[in-house]
Amino acid sequence: MKNLVVGAGFSGATIARKIAEELGQKVVVIDEKSHIGGNSYDYRDKNGIMIHKFGSHIFHTSLEPVWQFISQFTSFNTYMHKVIAIIDGVETNIPFNFKTLYDVFPHTLARRLEEKLLAKFEYNKKVPILEFQKQEDEDLKFLANYVYEKVFLHYTTKQWGVDPNEVDGAVTARVPVYLSCDPRYFQDKYQGIPLNGYTETIKNMLDHPNIEVRLNTKYQDISETFDRTFYTGPIDEFFNFEFGELPYRSVNFKFEEYDKEYYQSNACVNYPCNYDFTRIHEYKYYLDDKSDKTVIAKEYSEFFERGKNERYYPIPNEESALLYAKYLEKAKTLKNVYFLGRLGDYKYYDMDKAIARALELFEKIKGE
Ligand code: UDP
Repeated sequence: MKNLVVGAGFSGATIARKIAEELGQKVVVIDEKSHIGGNSYDYRDKNGIMIHKFGSHIFHTSLEPVWQFISQFTSFNTYMHKVIAIIDGVETNIPFNFKTLYDVFPHTLARRLEEKLLAKFEYNKKVPILEFQKQEDEDLKFLANYVYEKVFLHYTTKQWGVDPNEVDGAVTARVPVYLSCDPRYFQDKYQGIPLNGYTETIKNMLDHPNIEVRLNTKYQDISETFDRTFYTGPIDEFFNFEFGELPYRSVNFKFEEYDKEYYQSNACVNYPCNYDFTRIHEYKYYLDDKSDKTVIAKEYSEFFERGKNERYYPIPNEESALLYAKYLEKAKTLKNVYFLGRLGDYKYYDMDKAIARALELFEKIKGE
């Protein structure tokens, strides 16, 4: 069997590798870009700093099969991501947790709030902001309004163009109110940054005698026939947008280089309430790169427009779900074409979930 994989990001590389290795079949992987890696693409710049071209990527998973799979292609450092937010000029932790209380409030107020929270919630519980807002106690109501306003309202409006009540609850629930002292962004068992970067990891995944990679190649450029196609590109584009375009948010990174060792105190600093950008990434932290220069990127969110910018985030809401369902119905009528990945499934996957989805699809198709 001859297989075509469209897209050389994590989803495409995972399905390609499994087919090439376990089924011993030929796989051609194409990508319209000039590089592999999709949006996880990274490279070392002239200062030796590993830059994540399309925004910070931190690998984290609790899925054993995913960790086993990716660990064949890279080693990881033990970096555990923390996010700092500047709230009213104070550097504190996101997700909002017990430590944050003491950073932003006078001690006696923080203590009262902490006691009330401990009386009401189980320790270590993660509460999505939209649920956390439903408080009856006056102090907790004050706290919920504070967190909503200072952490979520403006950041979400910048990021999605609408306020948190209009964004699918699952999106803001990614960053809950965390009734804990754990300052990390993720609580997964496995976390880290690939020691030689994401591009190198994906290169290793694709480095197999049964895999041929063709860059700068669009799906429309392919004239030969394949027995199966695995499509990780946008599902609406595959069908020539016949039901309409699926909406996406895009991001614009403005890179700046500074002649000093560090620009900020942490790899990622969020500015929920200030400026037009959402956050600043400082890349040298991820692999502890040493240089007397530093490179940062300010992240600006915008709507995706074809030909203008890239697709980053599917926008989960009722309307887009209905539109996606139409494409999915149509996709099911095709024989030997499979959709996967953030764009193929129109799902806000993290890297580990994209790999998990590709591994599951492989299990499904391997006997076919
Ligand atoms: N969010 C927020 N304030 C923050 C961080 C996150 O309001 O300081 C909300 C925002 O709506 C964002 C969502 O939580 O889109 C998910 O954040 P996450 O950091 O998981 O997004 P990603 O890193 O995937 O862009």
